[in-house]
Amino acid sequence: MRKVLFPTAKCCCYFKPNRSSLINLKNSYSTSNSRLKNYCWKCGVERSNANMFCEKCNIIQNPQERTNYFKLFGIEQVFNIDQKILKDKFRNFQSQIHPDKFSNSSEKEQIISEEYSSLVNKAYHKLMSPMQRAEHLLELNGENISDNQTVDEPTFLMNIMNLNEEVESTMHDMEKLKQLEQKNKTEIEVLTKEIDKHFQNRDIEAAKKSIIKLKYFSSISDRINSILREAGISD
Ligand SMILES: [Zn+2]
Repeated sequence: MRKVLFPTAKCCCYFKPNRSSLINLKNSYSTSNSRLKNYCWKCGVERSNANMFCEKCNIIQNPQERTNYFKLFGIEQVFNIDQKILKDKFRNFQSQIHPDKFSNSSEKEQIISEEYSSLVNKAYHKLMSPMQRAEHLLELNGENISDNQTVDEPTFLMNIMNLNEEVESTMHDMEKLKQLEQKNKTEIEVLTKEIDKHFQNRDIEAAKKSIIKLKYFSSISDRINSILREAGISD
């Protein structure tokens, strides 16, 4: 009869999970799915909320949300966000997790604070920009816009081409450039209202189309502002 060999504690195949490896395993699950339980990396206590610091040992924790920037800040996932609330939340984050506050802490705490802080910075700037916020919302809805994506509307594209030519031909007329920028801003306002409405109606295709249009106007706006800056005129 063949003898069946079972791995023993001395054998390299034998793996007995210890407490810290179990905690790491649970942590890796909790970061991929925030609905699962979360544990402090330092003291191992089960955590009941998404605070930046452990409720028991008060040590900085890894962010529980990394991909959805609305969730990271705990704000409603809508296009028309309250920028004041976002600003307040950003300041609150930075007052607690800025790397300067961890200069005397352990290496791991310093690394977590640097990563956390840079994630929060990136998310904040993305959400503050209407264009990037719209693209982020699209991504969260499983859609995205490639760099060369365009709209199938010849009249719209013709208008954009004319507008671009107008900007280039009035490069030295600062007053006219400012007027063009004002006109451009109005178009951007109309489009951002449209985008908000489409997201509210969950019409992702229509939102995508308006976002592509917004990209054209944003790019014209960037061009005008760069000319104005070069001329020493800034808003
Ligand atoms: Zn702890």
